[in-house]
Amino acid sequence: MKFGGTSVANVERIRNVARHVKREIDAGHEVAVVVSAMAGKTNELVAWCKEAGSHFDNAEYDAVVASGELVTAGLLALVLRDIGLAARSWQGWQIPLLTDDAHGSARITKIGGSQLIEDLRRGDVAVVAGFQGLHPLTNRVTTLGRGGSDTSAVALAAAIGADRCDIYTDVDGVYTTDPRVVSKARRLDKVSFEEMLEMASLGAKVLQVRSVEVAMLHGVRLYVRSSFDDPADPNHGTLICDEEDILEQQIVTGIAFSRDEAQITLREIADKPGVAAAIFGPLAEANINVDMIIQVVSDDMATTDLTFTVPASEYEHAKRILEGCKDKIGFAKLSGATDVVKISAIGVGMRSHSGVAARAFSALAAKGINIRAITTSEIKFSMLIDEAYTELALRTLHSLYGLDSRG
Ligand code: ASP
Ligand code: MG
Repeated sequence: MKFGGTSVANVERIRNVARHVKREIDAGHEVAVVVSAMAGKTNELVAWCKEAGSHFDNAEYDAVVASGELVTAGLLALVLRDIGLAARSWQGWQIPLLTDDAHGSARITKIGGSQLIEDLRRGDVAVVAGFQGLHPLTNRVTTLGRGGSDTSAVALAAAIGADRCDIYTDVDGVYTTDPRVVSKARRLDKVSFEEMLEMASLGAKVLQVRSVEVAMLHGVRLYVRSSFDDPADPNHGTLICDEEDILEQQIVTGIAFSRDEAQITLREIADKPGVAAAIFGPLAEANINVDMIIQVVSDDMATTDLTFTVPASEYEHAKRILEGCKDKIGFAKLSGATDVVKISAIGVGMRSHSGVAARAFSALAAKGINIRAITTSEIKFSMLIDEAYTELALRTLHSLYGLDSRG
């Protein structure tokens, strides 16, 4: 069982978490719990690190930000004991959950846990601090990147051979699209690992992308549900599982969107070998992730125009880099926009159906929405449009693919 920041935001909510744990214990399960820091705590710790000095040190950053989860793990163990359950808290290094030394976004390399398994067998609830690990060679605390408690939970579930990994959050499952934007969004009963991976990567915020990768790799079935639902009610959420376990497959399962995109266009670039390398090489060196790319022939046939997207947070940085290489690349003009949104439709059914994206293009055209860029892959397609049309485009696609709730 994993509980996110809003679920453990204060002691009263931690008491509510304990009721969920008790339900599972009463049903005869052995339970390991992974907790996040209280809502807002990690942001506060990050801000303090920034305030503390200009000589930023990633290892000390981790030492500070890992502390939020230590508090909630201890508090939950106290509260569980208070209601008569044997419980023990575990910090990352005590398990040990070992990682590489990429402070701030470390990857898990190995999970010990024989002591923890012994505890579970005895019936003790193990309460594990999420988000953190230990780099064994340097003996330093690491963290797994923002939202990393999801990955802690899934990796731990795999390591102890758990039957299930239940992710408790503040929404009661995975929806066809964001219900705050599209009122007819529906909760999905089941989503395949692959679809969930695309949804998380393309903007759905419910799970950390890496946690879904780990779940897929190890076949850990995830159940996403809300800690605010009645603790007495065991079933209310979305199961993330193998494609084969989903009988009624839709062509499109969900529509994701991301406002965190920026568009850059270079005009009148020489149309000759090596130009793409001259543009994308320096961006890659700066660790800037380029996503959609389209190239068109310019009017004069000797030059070409190139449009691509980068994360909005990297927009200014990318523009500076390209202006710096202007002579080497040889372009006439650089323009860009941040008021764009990437809308993506996802569904494993696309593998076996043609024309799925074409229907979306017509539907958006009928609403007068211009598509600035398109990318497709086996089970998804994405379109970049003006941000002002986000809601209209989402509603249009949601109806088009038969996802609207009937109620
Ligand atoms: N507390 C960490 C964060 O806010 C990890 C997590 O909650 O998953 O990013
Ligand atoms: Mg989270």
